Amino acid sequence: MTATRTDPSEVVRELMGAHPHECVVCYVGRMVQRFDCDGSWRWVQTWREQRAPRATRLERRLGVRGASCDCELQLRAYEVEPRALAVAWDGPIASVGHCLEVRAGSTQPCRLWRLAQRNWWAGECHAPQTC
Ligand SMILES: [Zn+2]
Ligand SMILES: [Zn+2]
Repeated sequence: MTATRTDPSEVVRELMGAHPHECVVCYVGRMVQRFDCDGSWRWVQTWREQRAPRATRLERRLGVRGASCDCELQLRAYEVEPRALAVAWDGPIASVGHCLEVRAGSTQPCRLWRLAQRNWWAGECHAPQTC
């Protein structure tokens, strides 16, 4: 028999792992870009399991801010802080990929994000499901 060094759970961690101190908005943005949104909070929940397991009311708080699924987090709830736009200039917001980091267990977004002003543009989830 041959022993394989590739433990499936390691692969999953590599693909879906949150970076140390990565904030929820940056993480969910990365995952939605790679795996897409399915109209649920699955990436928010994946982030929470890794970074802030006690934040059980996270989805509700995000819902208050106008988001109802992972992708709407960046479409409706938060927008890039204009002063951070220089960082995002080269590509779509979701591909910024340079989280400015938050302290462990914090459910706040990093300084790359601010609450969406929601007066000029609000996208909606494009997942085929109900949202
Ligand atoms: Zn961040
Ligand atoms: Zn969505």
